Amino acid sequence: MKSKCISLHIFTFILLVCITIPYTPSYSQTQNKSTSQPVKYNTKEKNTKPISTNGKNLAAVTDFVDVSAVKAYFVIADRFKVHQKPSAKEWASLFNSPVHAMMITAGALDTTKFKHAMQTVYENGTTNTPTDPELAHHLKYQKLEKQLLAHISFLESSSIQQNIFNYLQPFLPPRLLAKNKLPKQYYIFYGNEDATAGPGMVINDLLLSYKIDGYKLGILSAHETFHAVVSEAFANLLKDGFSNQDPNAILLYFLSNISQEGVADLIDKPALTQSGSPVLQEMKALTENETILSKQYITKLDSLLQAKGTNIDYNLLFQGFSKNGGHIPGRVMGQAIKQAGLLSVLIRSVEDPVSFFELYNQAIQKNKSELPLFSEISIAYLKQLKERYFKQI
Ligand SMILES: [Zn+2]
Repeated sequence: MKSKCISLHIFTFILLVCITIPYTPSYSQTQNKSTSQPVKYNTKEKNTKPISTNGKNLAAVTDFVDVSAVKAYFVIADRFKVHQKPSAKEWASLFNSPVHAMMITAGALDTTKFKHAMQTVYENGTTNTPTDPELAHHLKYQKLEKQLLAHISFLESSSIQQNIFNYLQPFLPPRLLAKNKLPKQYYIFYGNEDATAGPGMVINDLLLSYKIDGYKLGILSAHETFHAVVSEAFANLLKDGFSNQDPNAILLYFLSNISQEGVADLIDKPALTQSGSPVLQEMKALTENETILSKQYITKLDSLLQAKGTNIDYNLLFQGFSKNGGHIPGRVMGQAIKQAGLLSVLIRSVEDPVSFFELYNQAIQKNKSELPLFSEISIAYLKQLKERYFKQI
């Protein structure tokens, strides 16, 4: 039997594929194809020595905000613009940065393709809109380079840490929230407009940060930080000794993802779905028919739980019983809990997905909602799992 530690690595890797705003096919989706491969998280800084190239200080890494990778990216861009070959050291500054190194290990970043794409965009100055989404993303970086460089300076001196803390305060119990222990924010060229979280780290695409942080500083990062904190707390909640192949443990990780999105979406989506939001169109697409779809997924999930046991693979659970990585039905369920005035009860044991499902049922009855209830058999089964798999909070 494998230890929980191994399963933690595997499942936190899966959490890393949580896609918040999936505009285009992404690294995240590439990662999703290789979920059997645990990722070694390397959060140590490899490039701590100040390197000054073209006037850009590569080593400007604060304790909370790490922009070293995007700085390295633009140094390489500068080389290509004047038809120079970036040095091995300059490429290493980019690819050895913590997040890129992790992506390369996971097979989610092809360095040859990346180098070619940068050369195409910055040396040749491609002006057509490429069909390859990654190339198109480089082109957006090229067109907005001035603004993105200014945004890097802004991030380094901004109050983003305080803002993230403030956004999280209503959604985490004090035992899980400490300003000086918030996971580090990494800003990178992510291949598309996306943000995601892993243990002790939040990964932000710089361009998406530029769009959203100019509107509501730190709001999307707070959503992802919630995942980083709660996924770790959930892993700690599990008793020791369960195999990562255990179907009930897999089911609980899936339910954890739904409950996490249910709360995390209460942090940012109210603001991001307002008129004036820089991602309003994307939000409209993501929330389209979400009530109808949520009803369908909740009913399917209830049937699954009534069957008391499943051998469904983790990825297939996402495909068959949720949409957008658990945002649907999570968001609708979280909204129902909030509407019923039960959010404060939920937050006390926020990492417990069984509590989320029980409170959802209470909320539906209280709200006299048209959303489906989970059956008594399903709730009883979840309580059994809680007894068997979870420690006391
Ligand atoms: Zn999320």
